[in-house]
This record gives sequence, C-alpha cells and structure tokens, in this order.
Amino acid sequence: MVILKTREEIELMRESALSVSRTLGMLAKEIKPGVTSLYLDRLAEEYIRDNGGIPGFKGLYGFPNTLCMSLNSAVVHGIPTDIPMEEGDIISVDCGVLKNGYYGDHAYTFAVGEIKPEVQRLLDVTKESLYIGIEQFKAGNRIGDISWAIQNHAEKNGYGVVRELVGHGLGKKMHEDPEVPNYGKRGDGPKLKDGMVIAIEPMINMGTRNIKQLKDGWTILTADKKPSAHFEHDVALVDGKPDILSTFKYIEEALGISNKTVE
Ligand code: MG
Ligand code: MG
Repeated sequence: MVILKTREEIELMRESALSVSRTLGMLAKEIKPGVTSLYLDRLAEEYIRDNGGIPGFKGLYGFPNTLCMSLNSAVVHGIPTDIPMEEGDIISVDCGVLKNGYYGDHAYTFAVGEIKPEVQRLLDVTKESLYIGIEQFKAGNRIGDISWAIQNHAEKNGYGVVRELVGHGLGKKMHEDPEVPNYGKRGDGPKLKDGMVIAIEPMINMGTRNIKQLKDGWTILTADKKPSAHFEHDVALVDGKPDILSTFKYIEEALGISNKTVE
C-alpha cells in the first residue's frame, strides 16, 4: 500500500533528505587516496548525531554501520572496511538519516583521486539516468515510465542495469511501497499521485547486469568484477511535478564541480 504524504510531512522529509545531503557534502571533502571507508563511516555517524539525526541504516535489517560503502565492483550494501582507498577507485556512498520520524535516503558515487575516463563516463551516465528518471515522475505517468527511462538511457550507453535491487517509497519507514525498478515498460505499474515520496536510485554496471553477493551476507558485487555506480535522490510528487527533496549541491560545491543537471 502506498502511503501518500501531506505537504507538512513532505517538508519534514525534506529536512531528513537534506541531512543526508549535508552529510555527503561533508564526506566529499574527506574522500581521497589513503582514507578508509570505516573512518568515513565514523565521521558520518558523528555528524548525523551532532545535527540531531539518527543514522538510518545502522541496525536496519541488522546492517552494522551508518554508511553503505561500495567500492569499485561493489554495487550497493558494502560494509565499511579499514582498507585504505586507492587512487583511481570509485566509492558509492549510500546514507540514511531518521529525523522527526521520517527517513532520508540518498547516494552518490565518488571518484577517489583521478579515475579513468571510461569510469568517469559510467558515473556521468548513471547520474544522468537518475535525472532522466526523475523527469518522468509526474502526473499522468506510472512507475514504469520512470523505470523505462532509466533503463533506456543506461542501455543505450552500453551499460548493464541491475534488476535485483530497486528504488522504493520512503516515509516513516525506509522502505515503503511502491517498488521503483530501474528497468521496465512504459505505462506499467502503479499510477503516480500527488503526495507520493520515492527514492529513485539507478544502479548501473559498466559490464554485465548480473550480480552476486559476497559471503559477508551484505555486499552486492558485479558478476564480472567491472565497476558499478549508484546515484539516489528522494523525490516528492507535488502539484503533478517532481520536487527533489535531497540535493547534490553540497557535494558538488565541495568538489568544485559545476554541473547543469544538478539541482
Ligand atoms: Mg540509499
Ligand atoms: Mg534507497
């Protein structure tokens, strides 16, 4: 069942989403060769608590940490480690915050130092596919319109679209209905309605779409060990149009990136 949110609830959810955005912006300055994901995880937990939030992932389904830190061929759900990151790595950072009873949940894939142009292209196309998906979150459409748009953009660039993991409704729970797959058919699935709040989160692989799970019971890896990227925003449907509650602005200010697709 899809739980529609009031305007007041959407404003509370914007606060939760922006808490995540600010946390990711703080981390953006710290991500460099030699740093461990466990160190970043501790920084994030402290930052979230200092700002009146609760880490949203810690303890959720038994997950041990504040951040999901997925390095290179890890797609999502990576557990932070004490292994230093290296020049040329990419790290997908997914963060949740619970504030005022509502969850924020958003993610960005960062370059560690200089990365290869083909890896940068994977990051760019994955982020583009997120915004292309968001454009379809509007009155008159269905979830499948978002799914199809993401899949089409990724596949026409030669990438694999992960199917086993999907975006989702968001609210007082981290995962609510509806599911928001990154693949599908136009006109399929639940109808979009004002008050819906969803996390749209393409997980795009440079090679095969196939994945496997590490023995740690969490980390999802690409089956061919090629890199994977993940970008996620929280979006509300307001007056028939998408209202992006989270923002990459803090990250991109910290990284000195100007990007016209960024909201
Ligand atoms: Mg997430
Ligand atoms: Mg999510």
